[in-house]
Amino acid sequence: ERMITGELQEEDTSIELNLRPTTLKQYIGQHKVKENLSIFIQAAKMREEPLDHVLLYGPPGLGKTTLAAIIANEMGVQFRSTSGPAIERAGDLAAILSSLEPGDVLFIDEIHRLPRSVEEVLYPAMEDFFLDIVIGTGPSARSVRIDLPPFTLVGATTRAGLLSAPLRDRFGILSRLEYYDARDLCSIIERTADIFNTSISQEAAVEVARRSRGTPRVANRLLKRIRDISQVKGESEISLATSGEALQMLQVDKVGLDHIDHKLLKGIIESFQGGPVGLDTIAATIGEESQTIEDVYEPYLLQIGFIQRTPRGRVATFQAYEHFGLKVADDHES
Ligand code: ADP
Repeated sequence: ERMITGELQEEDTSIELNLRPTTLKQYIGQHKVKENLSIFIQAAKMREEPLDHVLLYGPPGLGKTTLAAIIANEMGVQFRSTSGPAIERAGDLAAILSSLEPGDVLFIDEIHRLPRSVEEVLYPAMEDFFLDIVIGTGPSARSVRIDLPPFTLVGATTRAGLLSAPLRDRFGILSRLEYYDARDLCSIIERTADIFNTSISQEAAVEVARRSRGTPRVANRLLKRIRDISQVKGESEISLATSGEALQMLQVDKVGLDHIDHKLLKGIIESFQGGPVGLDTIAATIGEESQTIEDVYEPYLLQIGFIQRTPRGRVATFQAYEHFGLKVADDHES
């Protein structure tokens, strides 16, 4: 269990129930994405057409699912939600698509994990709103065309590059979600505190924001834990001191890193003299999957400049050495 992963953990489900903003206006940060979507949504509504298909990509916990639901709400249509791994056969997808009402939003999380055979059924559905389904097998097999109501597909994935080119090309709107800056995270933390019926001092909010890896899901999760401790202490407002203690107890360091990040960084520094070292070698050294490192752990370390990607592998930067109070070796290349 990682406190600071953007991936959905069991404890988040209950927290997030009441936290999701429902309109673009309530959705904090991601200004460029919001501005674009707002224009596309207005235009589609004026034309009385469904919104173009939207691909949202970026690390977990940044608000892709939330935004997909907001799109449906702003369009005034139903929101239907599923995920790539949940759709095993073409027939599963056909069942979902043919049950949509005109204009509905179908959200497919982890869309890069759709089986290839299902993906191929999706192409004509996205492009011309029909399904080509093969019924039966062998010589009696025949292809049936089923017309679909026009709909909007909103796909979410961690990296746009994980999608096959033909699938990616069928999205009219591609929006990349970025890590939130401390100011936007502070607003999210204050909003969440409000919904939790508690208050947090400005300086404590800044501290939690700084240690939340630019990720709303992490900020909300940390805030919930800190609130519990603050309540037990009988505070009327969550203080900076309590936040600091709680975060130390939760083993989240000053910049939002935990023991796995430490293991990863120290692995590069101590076992490979700071790199360059290949992703697979790092993965084997710390006992994690390469894909998880690349999609979940590494993006934030790249963002804060603790590691760099080079053609020959990952390199720990001066900032990473400094964070651990270590000196960069003289022959180090970064
Ligand atoms: P993703 O689908 O990218 O993994 P989610 O949409 O599930 O992320 O967001 C995780 C949680 O973070 C949501 O429950 C919501 O409470 C919060 N959240 C995400 N983005 C925002 C935002 N822009 N403003 C306020 N809260 C947000």
